Amino acid sequence: MCGIAAIKLKDKSRVGQFDVLKMLADVLYQMTHRGQEGAGFVWPYHNRLEVYKNFGYAEEVYTQILAHYADKLDKLVTYQALGHVRYPTEGSSLREDLQPTTASSVFGRVFALADNGNLVNYQQERELMEGAGMRFGFSSNNEAELILHAIIVHHYYERIKKNGGEADFIKSIEYALKYFRGAFSTILMTRNNIFAFVDRFGFRPLILGETEDFWVLASESCALDILHIPSQRRTELQAGQICHLSDEGVEWYQVEDINPKKCIFEYVYFARPDSVLWGRPVYRYRENLGKILASYDKDLQVNIVMPVPDSANFIAYGYALAKGLSLAQFMPWALIRNHYVGRTFIKPGQTVRDESVRKKFNPLPGIFKGQRVVVIDDSIVRGTTILKIIKMIFQAGAKEVHLRIGSPPKKAPCYYAIASSTQEEHAWHKYGGLAGIVNYLKKEVSPYMSQGAKFTVKYLSHQDLRKTVDKPEDYCLACFDGKYPVK
Ligand code: SF4
Repeated sequence: MCGIAAIKLKDKSRVGQFDVLKMLADVLYQMTHRGQEGAGFVWPYHNRLEVYKNFGYAEEVYTQILAHYADKLDKLVTYQALGHVRYPTEGSSLREDLQPTTASSVFGRVFALADNGNLVNYQQERELMEGAGMRFGFSSNNEAELILHAIIVHHYYERIKKNGGEADFIKSIEYALKYFRGAFSTILMTRNNIFAFVDRFGFRPLILGETEDFWVLASESCALDILHIPSQRRTELQAGQICHLSDEGVEWYQVEDINPKKCIFEYVYFARPDSVLWGRPVYRYRENLGKILASYDKDLQVNIVMPVPDSANFIAYGYALAKGLSLAQFMPWALIRNHYVGRTFIKPGQTVRDESVRKKFNPLPGIFKGQRVVVIDDSIVRGTTILKIIKMIFQAGAKEVHLRIGSPPKKAPCYYAIASSTQEEHAWHKYGGLAGIVNYLKKEVSPYMSQGAKFTVKYLSHQDLRKTVDKPEDYCLACFDGKYPVK
């Protein structure tokens, strides 16, 4: 899971009137939830592309850029730029794995590419390209480099076929879209053009916004808000679509054989609630999940409803609304979150993750004493975070804790860019299905429960998850049902 973005001025001659790199940094920073490990910026300068990538948040990396170019600030004046925030999925956590990735063709054109996704056949494809006798010199372990090389090689052969004449670059992108299997919402930049394209399944979001002066592409619509892009001037890229931004304007293309499989987990967890995703506000979607969960609890007496902050906030809100609870009973702030710890899910490595959970939450004094508490979470993968929270609430004196999960049990890993965990790490796999998970949670929690205390667990059903979208067949639910659309 990553965030990608690009900005291009419509009129190149106005270069210098807009601080394009700063705009890009602001857009990327709005997508920090999609990648905290590192950030990269690429922009044209004279006949080549300047690149700056490093570990850290986009804003920190941008600050480093300002320091790095302090005595050559003219190099930062540009009419377009491409950026990426990285969350490690495939590949290691080396500096080389940070994107955008760049390359030069034999004709001297310089390319940069950033993507959000994961190729299911990355290793075979890489071996195939390396084994083809060409010296690609892969320097990273990420799919961006592979996709970029494939497009360049295809373009190169197309030109050879025309005895060195011009070849249609769109054809090379179409080739990549047809050839590669997996998720890749992508932005490719040359010195004068920007191409955005989405794989034939449309797993990951990508949106184009525009003003009179510039275009902006971003993984999520919340990032467009920072540049005040009007809602009527935004277009979400669909499965198999290509968008070409050039000095002549914008052109759209569509490849055939699409099979839309949008990631439903973007709605449940990953996207920011202030984003509009595939035509629908994310917070509204989550509110609906909460209402469905409340319909399972018609006779349950509740004093406090609280989310596991922050992704479950609107699920809990929907639950409280449907239960007709008062404002005093909806308590998103019952657990105070230390915002400086960072997102638990996104931290690499289990040891770091456990430590983060302990540091992350603390209950308000006396808030849970003698109360019936409904705790809402969006999903359970390993169950480590939620267990610690439930224990904390019982330790704080709760009489009842009812855990409600806004999605069905996660059964399987995601191979399309959310590095949720391996099959073995899933609570579903580890504890033998739903009953096993519930038994495990109960057993772990029981030492923290006082005499007569109660603990229940309910998940959103599969059937109800499918009903949350208009055309469930257009969505990927693989981590919940194990039916992978691309293998
Ligand atoms: Fe999304 Fe799950 Fe499908 Fe991955 S497997 S794309 S997380 S729904």
